[in-house]
Amino acid sequence: MDTAAPKASVMRAPQPSAEKERVRVRIAPSPTGPLHVGTARTALFNWLFARQHGGTFVLRIEDTDRERSKKEYEDAIFEGLSWLGLDWDEGPSPDGGPDRGSHGPYRQTERTAIYRRYLEDLLERGEAYYCYCTKEDLEAQRQAMLDAGLPPRYGGHCRSLAAPPPGKKPQVIRFRIPEVTVEFTDMIHGKASFDAGLLGDQVIAKDLDTPLYNFAVVVDDALMEITHVIRGDDHFSNTPKQILVQRALGFPTPHYAHLPLILNPDRSKMSKRFSDVALANYRDRGYLPDAIVNFLSLLGWHPKEDHEVFDRAFAVEHFDIGRVQQAGAVFNEEKLDWLNREHMKRMPLAELASAASPFFAKAGIDTSGGGSPPDGGQDGTLLMRAAALQLSRAKTLAEIAESSRFLFDLPAYDPNLLVWKGNSVRHATASLTDAAAALRASAPGDFASRDALLQVLTPLIDARGRGAVLWPLRVALSGQAASPDPMEIMQVIGKEESLARIERALRGLASSSA
Ligand code: GLU
Repeated sequence: MDTAAPKASVMRAPQPSAEKERVRVRIAPSPTGPLHVGTARTALFNWLFARQHGGTFVLRIEDTDRERSKKEYEDAIFEGLSWLGLDWDEGPSPDGGPDRGSHGPYRQTERTAIYRRYLEDLLERGEAYYCYCTKEDLEAQRQAMLDAGLPPRYGGHCRSLAAPPPGKKPQVIRFRIPEVTVEFTDMIHGKASFDAGLLGDQVIAKDLDTPLYNFAVVVDDALMEITHVIRGDDHFSNTPKQILVQRALGFPTPHYAHLPLILNPDRSKMSKRFSDVALANYRDRGYLPDAIVNFLSLLGWHPKEDHEVFDRAFAVEHFDIGRVQQAGAVFNEEKLDWLNREHMKRMPLAELASAASPFFAKAGIDTSGGGSPPDGGQDGTLLMRAAALQLSRAKTLAEIAESSRFLFDLPAYDPNLLVWKGNSVRHATASLTDAAAALRASAPGDFASRDALLQVLTPLIDARGRGAVLWPLRVALSGQAASPDPMEIMQVIGKEESLARIERALRGLASSSA
């Protein structure tokens, strides 16, 4: 593949050869906003298709809109795709093989000279022309068409000018749209047919150095030898325009697959402009990249066997572009929460703890102290036990951290909270004193098991009642009215810290009754 500017004459992209087609797909995001989950879904479907065919996945930054394109958004694309594990094969090395990292990603603003040559070629051959109509002219023409009861479109005013109109400057370059029916077969939607006559001559560039999307995309897809264009449904109506430009330039037409729109639960279209649908937002809220990949792959597709929780390798193996649905795909956050927890549960604990660790730091929770491991474990084991404890309720890594705060740092609380309903400070003090004695005398290893700890407390529970023992104990251990049960907490924070917290509760009760 050669993406360099053609030399003297315009280079034609190679026609499809008889040999088996090598799959080459691309994701072509515009860096004009945070990376949207919809773009991530398109990238994922392209990546799955490339990987399952041993093909190439190209990343092309479509930054022709210089005003709205920003470096930070480009960085967000790199970060987002890397975070999801969607590695791109940037381009071929000089010897023709894939060479990750040295040739890309492609940036349209670095390819102006290439587009210019193709624009010049179209102008020379009369397939494109300069349009001198000003905004006011266009508005007047539009009004005239409406008045005549015609659908408004560019009427071809400058199509056949023998010379530039005196005193007028070229405004844009238009592509001469032929009066034909454009047909193509979409891999998802099937046969499609458009009456090109309705389009009116399209603007393909502002000037020779400022091509627009529908032109640059055609040149790039051809020169990058893209075999399958997999993109959002919002580009479906651009396809006939692009096919006509391909034909005028002698380029082959790739296969097309237009993915269903992503919808809000009320079935309205999910806008790109809302920052809450930025991929980074999900990362920052503590969703795992594996869960997001799993979730995004189900936005418009699902495996044949009703398999819902799976990893990338499964998706690569089973993905089937032909089975992608046509109807819009609803973005259901509850499903994402469920998938995230399923993926958290399937992770080795050490990995889960290390994934959760930055969320503890972000929440300002110091995980370096806060408990003696019952099993003499090393650094990090408290974090692992905390994560395991929260798995049954937390939906995200951020929730694991937030709900584990008390395990690392006992919050200040009102000692009256220690008193079980209908009981007095004296009852709570007696119950906690007995509990501390029983726990202090427990056998080594009891703190490693919830059942063993319950056994230790059973005689007290039998004597005083469940609530009268477990309520003050739970508050002493957690400092809060709602928390996991006391045996589970003790298992996590260990014997030494548990006893220290009970002592602290007893001191609180003593001072409150003083
Ligand atoms: N830059 C376009 C977008 O972000 C790419 C469309 C395409 O894939 O052709 O929507």
